[in-house]
Amino acid sequence: MSAIRKCPNCGQWSRWTQNPTDRCEHCNSILDPVAVARQQARAERKQEEEERYSIKFIEVNPDDPWYIQFFKRIGLGFQIAFVSIISFFIWLIALLAG
Ligand SMILES: [Zn+2]
Repeated sequence: MSAIRKCPNCGQWSRWTQNPTDRCEHCNSILDPVAVARQQARAERKQEEEERYSIKFIEVNPDDPWYIQFFKRIGLGFQIAFVSIISFFIWLIALLAG
């Protein structure tokens, strides 16, 4: 479906496929900046949520000095142990609840 929309920048009418990323045929500015901003905000919020619920494991960089790698590996070991315990409890709760 296509429509026309008045460009908020130059005031000319442009073809508009109701897609937030559609641009003006005359000045190439975004035809629906509000929708674009809204879409962007939604994408950012989604990313934030994903980051909050995902556990970031420590990355051991081979270029790090040996003592940094040593401490990172200990930290990573704790992280893996922690995740395993949490997974075990989630499994146990699911088992008991079922
Ligand atoms: Zn325009």
